[in-house]
Amino acid sequence: MELEMQNEALRVSQAAMELSRDRYADLFEFAPVGYVTISAQAMIAEINLTACELLGLERSKLVNCRFSKFVSEQDSGRWRMMFHKMLKQTETADQTFDLEMTRADGSIFFAHLVCLRREITDVQSLLRIALVDITKLKIAEAKLRIASTVFESQEGMLVTDAEGLIIAVNASFSGITGYSAEEVIGKNPSLLSSGRHDAAFYAAMWDSLKRLGFWEGDIWNKRKNGEVYPEHLIITVVNDQNGKIQNYVATLTDITMSRSAADEIRLLAFYDQLTGLPNRRLLLDRLKLALASSSRNGKEGGILFLDLDNFKTLNDTLGHDIGDQLLQQVARRIESCVREGDTVARLGGDEFVVMLEDLSEQPLEAAEQVEAVGKKILARLNQTFQLATHEYRMSVSIGATLFQNHQTGLDDLFRQADIAMYQAKKEGRNTLRFFDPLMQASIYARATLEAQLRDAIEHGQFQLYFQVQVDSSRRALGAEALLRWLHPERGIVLPVHFVPLAEETGLILPIGNWVLETACALLKVWQDDASTRNLTLSVNVSARQFHEAGFVARVQEAMQRHGINPGLLKLEPTESILLENLDATVATMNALKTIGVSFALDDFGTGFSSLQYLKKLPLNQLKIDQSFVRDLASDNSDQAIVRTIIAMAQSLSLEVIAEGVETEEQRGMLQESGCMHFQGYLFGRPVPIAEFEALLAKG
Ligand code: C2E
Ligand code: MG
Ligand code: MG
Repeated sequence: MELEMQNEALRVSQAAMELSRDRYADLFEFAPVGYVTISAQAMIAEINLTACELLGLERSKLVNCRFSKFVSEQDSGRWRMMFHKMLKQTETADQTFDLEMTRADGSIFFAHLVCLRREITDVQSLLRIALVDITKLKIAEAKLRIASTVFESQEGMLVTDAEGLIIAVNASFSGITGYSAEEVIGKNPSLLSSGRHDAAFYAAMWDSLKRLGFWEGDIWNKRKNGEVYPEHLIITVVNDQNGKIQNYVATLTDITMSRSAADEIRLLAFYDQLTGLPNRRLLLDRLKLALASSSRNGKEGGILFLDLDNFKTLNDTLGHDIGDQLLQQVARRIESCVREGDTVARLGGDEFVVMLEDLSEQPLEAAEQVEAVGKKILARLNQTFQLATHEYRMSVSIGATLFQNHQTGLDDLFRQADIAMYQAKKEGRNTLRFFDPLMQASIYARATLEAQLRDAIEHGQFQLYFQVQVDSSRRALGAEALLRWLHPERGIVLPVHFVPLAEETGLILPIGNWVLETACALLKVWQDDASTRNLTLSVNVSARQFHEAGFVARVQEAMQRHGINPGLLKLEPTESILLENLDATVATMNALKTIGVSFALDDFGTGFSSLQYLKKLPLNQLKIDQSFVRDLASDNSDQAIVRTIIAMAQSLSLEVIAEGVETEEQRGMLQESGCMHFQGYLFGRPVPIAEFEALLAKG
């Protein structure tokens, strides 16, 4: 009975032992870690199933096999060293290291080894090794290493989270933008935005990112120091496993210096280099699109033509660098007055164009919208500019026009805005004018006249007429040369119809030179003839001529070339010339006086007629304007004026001549008041030279 009980206890404990051995065996065999025991002879003594699977062989083929057979060639030297070291070392702490291993089929894997030395007898020890496959980890690590090397590359890199907030930037990014990582992390990349791209540009970018997961292009960005620069930008969307957006990765290259030729050409082709604004070509492109879309949606669009007032003077006085600075600042200010989608372009020089889209469908309302923007720009540009050390104030003239369903095309649109701008200039500058069709007709007529005038100069269509000037006994003292244009279709054209335009366009300079030449040639002929040798010739000069540099030299040269007596040439500036710049005028007149030329002041009485400046001028004669002579007989105040002028002339010891004398009565009254010289139809009309000389011969 006792024995039976003992047997039973043994059986139970044996069963329990078996169970625990099985449990241990399962644990050993199927643990997620490979276990290998290696003998001191470096043979595999024991190995679990996980390790067998790792090495790719059945257990029977592995036991008593050299472990080093499974160490890759590259790591075999290292393994041998480690192995011997471990067997010899005294302390029993475990050793860990990574090893590149080869499976039975020759494929490679990376293993992480934890090794423990166990002494079985005094002379024999074993090595127990736990072995984990870390291939995936290694690959991930390598990838990470590659990624971080790539990240720190030449190109600027920026990574944002799904919300578009910056989470990482590399060193090149900081180099390009001037922002350190700390300054930008957590911020939106829009802090780099230059403001030079419109909403449409960004909309297209987002569209591409959404549809293709990718955008590439050139873009103007702004550095921390405010400098705007061109960069080549690639943005890639990074999705997570579920296809949800996880990051945006941007690669940016500063192409200021190293733009590829194609980029360069594109930038040069479409953007103004100085201000970075779209140039004329890009503006025209956009205008075409705008015209099309406005005729589709029925909304008005508008363009504003801006021309800085007196920009040339700034350039001439403070230099081109300052001028450039102004243009850049003007560009930014105009941009600040318009919406994102509007275009601000620079046409060149000091000309800018603003294109507004999507205005009201009602032309009047649209015009008000355009005007509002124009006024805003005027006000903004009227504020003081800081140009280096100079404080500068300026104004701008703006011409505006609307387009919707525009029939006439781009060129006309431009011309209209240009015409309106010109009108704004004419009406005193610093103002805005809308285009109106009547204005266009008159401008067109002017343009035609200007072209014909140029033709006239080239083809010698001018002629001088001569009107006699006489003394109180009707003796001829000389003549005034009066210009006529022999127009091939219109016949004789009087100066009133073309001299003002010639003055405005500067064409009066070549015309005036021709008059001077012709007058000098005639004086020479008169001078060489006994009957005409004392005749003087009066020549009208315009302000433009008078203020032209080299005018004195030109007169002197003409007189010398023709060998004429300077005293016979009389120049007739009008009062208005003198008012423009008194000091310069006095200097010019004195210089001419020194070489013997004399002066008659034309149209006297119609300007300021101040004694103050008359005293300063080296004049010989005052010419009473014909408007006072015309009604002399009936108008008391004209009589008073004429008497005052004559008294004034006498007090300054100047000769006085009356022009426009048509009647004997006028002549009589003038003479009674002390005027002894006359010119007018009463004595002779202006006539061509042959007729004039015939008249002289008759006496
Ligand atoms: P102005 O110098 O005051 O010339 C006098 C104008 O009065 C001339 O007009 C002349 O034909 C006109 N006239 C002369 N006598 C009489 C008269 O008894 N009754 C009336 N009603 N008119 C008379 P014209 O030739 O048409 O010239 C007009 C203006 O054109 C001139 O005024 C002068 O300012 C300008 N002009 C003429 N020739 C030249 C020129 O060669 N160069 C420049 N810059 N201007 C010129
Ligand atoms: Mg005259
Ligand atoms: Mg006159």
